[in-house]
Amino acid sequence: MRELVKIELTGGAAIFLEEGNITRQRTDAIVNAANSSLMGGGGVDGAIHRAGGPAILEACKKVVAAQGRLPTGQAVATTGGRLAAGYVIHTVGPIWRGGDHDEPELLASCYRESLRLADKMHLVRIAFPSISTGAYGYPMEDAAEIALRTVMDELNTARHTREARFVLFGADAYQTYANAADKLIAAHKGAQIHIIRLNDTREVPE
Ligand code: ADP
Repeated sequence: MRELVKIELTGGAAIFLEEGNITRQRTDAIVNAANSSLMGGGGVDGAIHRAGGPAILEACKKVVAAQGRLPTGQAVATTGGRLAAGYVIHTVGPIWRGGDHDEPELLASCYRESLRLADKMHLVRIAFPSISTGAYGYPMEDAAEIALRTVMDELNTARHTREARFVLFGADAYQTYANAADKLIAAHKGAQIHIIRLNDTREVPE
């Protein structure tokens, strides 16, 4: 049985952590760590466009034609194309420049704006990659703490979105997020959140 972390929140919503490939998630929306041009790129962005097909790029071009480049910390939704996910929510993470260029606020904004958009679209489930921690160089321990704290706060106020799943690429990323979850729970004095480890993947089989 594959290990998975579930964090149950008091309001009934849940955060899951699992190791995997986000392009394989069967969910309402997956989040893309895009760049401002929305024209695709490397890392998870390239993987999502490859797996979802050209419909996603077509939709991105329309977004840019209508509203210009997507600012850092903002989010927009497009079709999921051929993905098992219905939608892709594209957000632009901050590039790490030492930590005193608003990186923490901008990273939190990515998670907050993505979740608010999902909630506005009445989506129940959303999956996130670890935004900014690849090519954009954000230290993963710090990013994990911000990601989990922001998603927890936002899920507690969302009306429709009940599940956020972090799909972490590789064992190290998974472990870093699991450790950040332990820290977050300790800081909450055991009250509202608890961790359950179980097998409840939404990944489609190869
Ligand atoms: P950024 O430019 O925001 O740093 P990257 O795509 O370079 O975006 O990396 C963000 C994170 O996504 C990294 O931790 C990377 O390991 C991870 N990643 C890459 N491919 C996938 C995938 N298919 N599914 C989930 N996560 C992925």
